[in-house]
Amino acid sequence: MGPELVDLMRQQAQRFGAECQFKIATKVDLSKRPFAVKSDDASYTCDALIIATGASARLLEIESETRLMGHGVSACATCDGFFFRDKELVVVGGGDSAMEEGTYLTKFASKVTIVHRRDEFRASKIMLKRAQDNDKIDFVVNATVEEILQADDELAVRGVLLKDTQTDQTSEFPCEGVFMAIGHIPNSQLFEGALEMDEQGYILTDPDSTATAIPGVFACGDVQDSVYRQAVTAAGTGCMAAIEAERFLAH
Ligand code: NAP
Repeated sequence: MGPELVDLMRQQAQRFGAECQFKIATKVDLSKRPFAVKSDDASYTCDALIIATGASARLLEIESETRLMGHGVSACATCDGFFFRDKELVVVGGGDSAMEEGTYLTKFASKVTIVHRRDEFRASKIMLKRAQDNDKIDFVVNATVEEILQADDELAVRGVLLKDTQTDQTSEFPCEGVFMAIGHIPNSQLFEGALEMDEQGYILTDPDSTATAIPGVFACGDVQDSVYRQAVTAAGTGCMAAIEAERFLAH
């Protein structure tokens, strides 16, 4: 399982001399050397810094979504799609992620309904068409998910409460799973003002490299990748960052 794999990787790094401190970084100072990273109760300095803070799925931020997360609500079709074999699902969003996740989920689900708050899609034409051409996918547009409805006798999803954005009317829509595909937020807030970012907050790195604009500071994984966002690609750029940091220190 994923957590065990992560644990084994951490142990391997420790065998090679890495020290692990489990703290929340609250402040960084990249304006002078050595760089400083602070948590509430500790302060660290470093000559090279690798940022691998990832990205968090954007969520609707409603109570029922939090309560049912992992119990029918998910933000990752590749991770959880398998658990929804022959079930009817809702995917929320109108971008490429919603089309991609919706299309992917039809491998397992009996039906997928993509719910989007407008009637125009942010998704690329080709991704949208692929979803529209899929017999297992339906669309509900001009609708927002107001609540995720819990089954009466268990922690599971029985549907969503939809609100028509044009009439404000609400209606219940039955489904057994809800996938959020309304974008991701890179966890780069700590570095605002210190590092260059794109308009969505992804840390900018040199082409084919994890180097940021500050020599000695490297960024890898989802915090600098708005396109692939997969564990395997994050591991790949993580390896690149390690090699680049090592070479930087050697020079
Ligand atoms: P996105 O393009 O930002 O789309 C997010 C969608 O979610 C939008 O349709 C937005 O609606 C909707 N949304 C946002 N907040 C919402 C809320 N609170 N309630 C309801 N709906 C909400 O994000 P994405 O689809 O994750 O794509 C991110 C980037 O990755 C894009 O550049 C995309 O092209 C890329 N990507 C590429 C691929 C691929 O090529 N294979 C796959 C996935 C993603 P509005 O349109 O009304 O704002």
